[in-house]
Amino acid sequence: MANSKYEYVRSFEQADILLPNTFIVVRIDGRGFTKFTTKYKFVKPNDRRALDLMNAAAEAVMKDLPDLVLAYGQSDEFSFVFHKDCMLFERRASKLTTTIVSTFTANYVLGWSKYFPDTPLTPPLPSFDGRAVCYPSDTNLRDYLSWRQVDCHINNLYNTSFWALVQQGGMDPRAAEQELSGTFSADKNEILFSRFGINYNNEPEIFKKGSVLYRDFFPTSTQSSPTFSKTKQSSTPPLSQPKPKRIARPMSQPLGRSTYPDLLRDS
Ligand code: ATP
Ligand code: ATP
Ligand code: MG
Ligand code: MG
Ligand code: MG
Ligand code: MG
Repeated sequence: MANSKYEYVRSFEQADILLPNTFIVVRIDGRGFTKFTTKYKFVKPNDRRALDLMNAAAEAVMKDLPDLVLAYGQSDEFSFVFHKDCMLFERRASKLTTTIVSTFTANYVLGWSKYFPDTPLTPPLPSFDGRAVCYPSDTNLRDYLSWRQVDCHINNLYNTSFWALVQQGGMDPRAAEQELSGTFSADKNEILFSRFGINYNNEPEIFKKGSVLYRDFFPTSTQSSPTFSKTKQSSTPPLSQPKPKRIARPMSQPLGRSTYPDLLRDS
């Protein structure tokens, strides 16, 4: 099999080894989920079943890939963080990304009937795209996660206001969109409160802030395998907790250092 006359075509492959000693973040995002959520009549603005399914699929990915230390999800996206000295697939971007995307998608489809027992999946089936990006410092990684969480907040405030105007205010979508155009956060909070009696602060945390999954390393008990935290419907922003859990290297991996950079510390 080796050294056939066709072997040369391998040299056409492009190297895509990611920079060493950097966090690798793979973000996946549902393809055409605006349409998909309409097809399956997702509760708007937030279908809790769909978020739970996203979290279940992400948990399966983290269980499958011990090099992952953290994941953050909101809407139809999830960001997976590999630790800095991860050497999985020699850090090849395409291998890391496609493995995460396909593992996530497979588990999303497998889990569908548990969360949507009354609506079977039919083609076109859900699919996800993915990309890998390197972040060299703790601050860069924190800022990345903050960026995604701010996106969650801004979209959720908008969507909550939009759907209140449509569902409770009886507006047609166009008028609701116009009503909200040019408004600031304070205006949307005011619309929600004065017109619909909704205090945005009391909306579920999982809607406002998204979900964090993290690996619990070196637990205090005598467990022999890495424990895996339950999905957090983060009650506080994931990256600004004053006393975070320390994130350490998976126990299934040989250790180069005994600790792992503390991603959650306020800088
Ligand atoms: P693309 O393929 O470019 O990502 P998209 O239609 O998926 O296109 P996104 O920006 O990813 O565009 O938007 C995701 C859409 O899915 C949004 O409209 C969002 O409101 C909707 N959505 C995602 N999760 C939920 C949920 N749990 N409940 C209700 N709607 C959701
Ligand atoms: P990697 O993750 O590196 O790809 P791998 O175990 O998948 O590891 P491959 O080189 O891709 O390694 O080999 C695929 C394996 O699956 C081979 O052992 C092959 O014989 C087996 N396999 C694939 N398709 C079939 C099939 N239809 N019937 C029987 N065996 C199969
Ligand atoms: Mg996209
Ligand atoms: Mg999408
Ligand atoms: Mg999206
Ligand atoms: Mg193979």
